[in-house]
Amino acid sequence: MPYVIAEPCIDVMDKSCVEECPVDCIYEGDRKLYINPKECIDCGACEPVCPVEAISQDRRVPEEYTAFVDDNNEFFTGVLSGRDKPLGTPGGAHKTGPIGVDTALVADK
Ligand code: SF4
Ligand code: SF4
Repeated sequence: MPYVIAEPCIDVMDKSCVEECPVDCIYEGDRKLYINPKECIDCGACEPVCPVEAISQDRRVPEEYTAFVDDNNEFFTGVLSGRDKPLGTPGGAHKTGPIGVDTALVADK
């Protein structure tokens, strides 16, 4: 059950969560961060440090934000704007650096 970042992160992006993640699986888009569900080890370390309570385990995401469960996955499995293939499982956000683009759901917010 991976953790998920929902709408409150948009345009906040202070990256407190990134500092806590032991497997470096929180990736930076343009206006929001995304947790790679295949790389997240479900430790929960990121959840309490988020100043806007944007992070929760996928089955505990507040009802108004359930679309963000699929959307976090979409960031890695879909083809983002300006790219020719999915990000997949790059093995660490420090390796990729900021991705600089968001999913369509987030870009439209
Ligand atoms: S739950 Fe743990 S592994 Fe998953 S994103 Fe948060 S800090 Fe990283
Ligand atoms: S701590 Fe919360 S607001 Fe800050 S980047 Fe992470 S998810 Fe976004």
